[in-house]
Formats: sequence, structure tokens, C-alpha cells
Amino acid sequence: MYCERCQRLTEGEICPECGKKCHRDPLPEDPCFLLSGGQIWVDMACELLDQEKIPYLKQGSLGAAMTVLTGLSLENYSLYVPFSQFEQAREITQAVFPEGEEDGTEETFEDDPDIERESEDD
Ligand SMILES: [Zn+2]
Repeated sequence: MYCERCQRLTEGEICPECGKKCHRDPLPEDPCFLLSGGQIWVDMACELLDQEKIPYLKQGSLGAAMTVLTGLSLENYSLYVPFSQFEQAREITQAVFPEGEEDGTEETFEDDPDIERESEDD
């Protein structure tokens, strides 16, 4: 199903975003919410989409005036792609945005001081 209000694909009939009932299936040209995040991440995703020639719509959450006030990059952006290319876009961008994005809990062990703690209690 597709929520016209939020431009989101929904699993069931109820949109998780606005809680309204969704009445129709998405059309190929419907813009679908793909992801959102800070400017750096979204730009990265845009680049990937460019490479695959997938059209997208980038929307800032705060608006231009706010961007001027805050300087830059504090703004969150949302990306929308046509439903016809949504699946493809999602696969591509999952490389940048792993599913269930957790705040920085990546498995990077390089130079982690915690690793060397085994022989602490001798
Ligand atoms: Zn909705």
C-alpha cells in the first residue's frame, strides 16, 4: 500500500507514519520515501543513485531559511525515489545505510582499548 500523505510505502493498510488508512497501491511514478539522514549521508546516497541513473527527490526538513541560519549540514534530508525504482534504489543505498541503522554501533575493532583488557587482572 502507499500513503499519499507521507509518500511512503506501507506494509499494511495503516501508515506507520501518520496512522491513516492507505487506500491504494503505489503507481510506478509515485515518489516513495527511501531514507533520511544528514547531508553527508544523503549526498552519498544521491551519488550512488546518480550512478545508477535513478531519479530522486531530495527534501530538506528545515527549509532553506533555516539552513542559512545554521550554516550547513545540521539539516536532515529525506530522499524519495519513484516506486518503479524503489527496490533497486533501496538495494543500492543499503550499502550506505545498513538496515536498522543504529547510532554508530559498528563493528570496528581497530585501536579499541577495550580489546587489550584480557590480561588486566593478573
Ligand atoms: Zn502516512
